[in-house]
Amino acid sequence: MSDKDPKQHSAEHILTAVFGQLFNGKIIDSRFKGSKVRCDFEVKTELSIEEVVEKAEKRSNMIISENRDVVFEELDYEEAKKLCSLHRLPDNVEKVRIVRIGEGIATPCSGEHVKNTKEIGTLKIRTFNFVSPGVLRLTFNLE
Ligand SMILES: [Zn+2]
Repeated sequence: MSDKDPKQHSAEHILTAVFGQLFNGKIIDSRFKGSKVRCDFEVKTELSIEEVVEKAEKRSNMIISENRDVVFEELDYEEAKKLCSLHRLPDNVEKVRIVRIGEGIATPCSGEHVKNTKEIGTLKIRTFNFVSPGVLRLTFNLE
């Protein structure tokens, strides 16, 4: 995971939390390539794709601009499960490292992150489409 840019990777956590909060979204894949990050989200919403993307970008940048500290804690699997979705982890782990980015954002992760969201910059969603029903693929970069 340490090959991911900490800024892009922290932005990915925020965007994922936003999709979860606003659209019952769940991240199912992400790829990091140079300045671009590609994410696939399962979403459940009646909104148009343009509205989803606009709201997600706006809310993410609001969170980023709140200059939130990024902190870690280690929890038992069962405890962690109450806090966030562990669907991308193997289910035989005992301890889970949780990354918190302020209120409402908790993600299981062992990667590298920024110390504060003010380091991230501005998140711009560049491309988006549905790759299958209910699966939204987007690419973003940071400015
Ligand atoms: Zn992470």
